[in-house]
Amino acid sequence: TGLTATAVAPATTVTTTTDSAEIVVDAHDLRKNFGSTEVLKGIDLTVTKGEVVCIIGPSGAGKSTLLRCLNGLETPTSGSIVVNGHDLSDKATNIDKVREQIGMVFQHFNLFPNMSVEENITLAPTMVRKVPKAEAHETALRLLKLVGLEEKIDARPASLSGGQKQRVAIARALAMNPAVMLFDEATSALDPEMVGDVLGVIERLAERGMTMILVTHEMGFAREVASRVIFTDAGVIDEEGTPDEIFGNPQSERLKSFLSKVL
Ligand code: ADP
Ligand code: MG
Repeated sequence: TGLTATAVAPATTVTTTTDSAEIVVDAHDLRKNFGSTEVLKGIDLTVTKGEVVCIIGPSGAGKSTLLRCLNGLETPTSGSIVVNGHDLSDKATNIDKVREQIGMVFQHFNLFPNMSVEENITLAPTMVRKVPKAEAHETALRLLKLVGLEEKIDARPASLSGGQKQRVAIARALAMNPAVMLFDEATSALDPEMVGDVLGVIERLAERGMTMILVTHEMGFAREVASRVIFTDAGVIDEEGTPDEIFGNPQSERLKSFLSKVL
């Protein structure tokens, strides 16, 4: 559909070298300290276009910190991050421009409460990208269809359920046509009956080739949708592999122990 081409396609206005053309996120030896606490202890993560990487691991492992480093919300203590060809540690890099290429969905949907659903989705494209209003409206409509909420286009966030708000938050992130979507426990705060709708949207994005990194506690979903699963513990990547490898044939004791608690 036209939706795939216009709304869920990687940004095209980015300069990348030929070598890294397919690499969307490239992090090397990423370290992050908070005071004397080392929260990330040397993370290497390379994500290529179209990959769906699920990050699992116990609370406090550093999963959120990792995502926050990837979109520039935290500054790593050391190590390098390149997103879509942009080196985040390079002083010449415009971090705001890079962030435009990264869609982020948090546990707690932070929609603007005083704006309609449509205004929430069109605000950044019209203000930041100077997209004409009519075009932004068309995109909002397409994205709302994608997340199954086109009838809510004029609604206020307060009138939506948690799952609906989260789906609007996903549509809003997609409206900037990001090269990669980051999800940090996007379904953890939802009532159980709403989790499926949100996971269904993420699955649809995966089918459309969206590059995604998801921190999730939904093991069944990770097993089904991930192209790669990364198990983090205490600031390191303890094990990574295909869903079948991680869930069907875990190697490390830490992963085995983690899975025995969550499965
Ligand atoms: P996860 O998302 O895997 O549960 P986090 O990345 O949120 O883990 O946190 C990892 C560790 O870093 C925790 O011990 C947490 O308390 C600590 N931490 C996270 N953010 C900060 C911060 N801004 N200041 C101090 N410590 C933090
Ligand atoms: Mg977290």
